[in-house]
Amino acid sequence: MTQVSDVIAALDERYPPRLAEDWDRNGLVVGRPDAAVERILLAVDPVMAVVDEAVDQDCDLIFTHHPLLLRGVHTVRADSSKGAVVHELIERGIALFNAHTNADAAAGGVADALAADLGVVDTVPLVPDSVDPSLGIGRVGRLAQPMTLHQFVERAADALPPTAHGVRVAGDLTGRIETVAVLGGSGDSFLEAVRAVHADVYVTADLRHHPASDAREQALLGDGRPYLVDVAHSASEWSWLRGAARYLEEALGVSTHVSTLTTDPWTARFGATGS
Ligand SMILES: [Zn+2]
Repeated sequence: MTQVSDVIAALDERYPPRLAEDWDRNGLVVGRPDAAVERILLAVDPVMAVVDEAVDQDCDLIFTHHPLLLRGVHTVRADSSKGAVVHELIERGIALFNAHTNADAAAGGVADALAADLGVVDTVPLVPDSVDPSLGIGRVGRLAQPMTLHQFVERAADALPPTAHGVRVAGDLTGRIETVAVLGGSGDSFLEAVRAVHADVYVTADLRHHPASDAREQALLGDGRPYLVDVAHSASEWSWLRGAARYLEEALGVSTHVSTLTTDPWTARFGATGS
């Protein structure tokens, strides 16, 4: 019988906790380590809709990317949003485990999956791990065939899960691109690293006005690169879950379900121009 502790051991092996950022929180959030696990739901966000999906799917454990409790907590009362999730999980007998920045950095994790989805090959970490430089934050590589920014953005829109956010782009759509940097999740603190590796385009999420504007102004002093491609946060961190599901099935003999719920907070978009 597979237990929660077996799932923890398997996931810690694939997404080593030591790769996590200091501020991060990972591991078992809710659950008894000796509880039985037959079916695992994989999702980006530990929100109530995902818990409901786990109940519908008859899952014993939810494996998410984002932590439920990242910051200090002094109550889990059931009329708070996070407390409601904790109560529902306990009452339903469902465990919750997450792997966040360690899954970003690990081989076969968030960044590798995003790069693969976008057809980026020969990748190396954008910011290498200090201990094992073959791992690290983000990836940078090249397209097997150079293409225009327009073609690349269409590829990204096709490859990633559909969201209300869609795919935003900054740059000359006719510009040729070959070198691509990717980073799942909020990526505007890595714009300098992208510039340093001379990427033609940077694909990430949550690019705020000022960092993006500053990066574009700096790029326009040169040839306009790196162009920026801003995708939905959840879309940038979804596809690695398929590889994680395969791994869990093979390592533990459990069954899995990869959530296709869109857990981006945004539900609609109006008035966009330029597409
Ligand atoms: Zn994220």
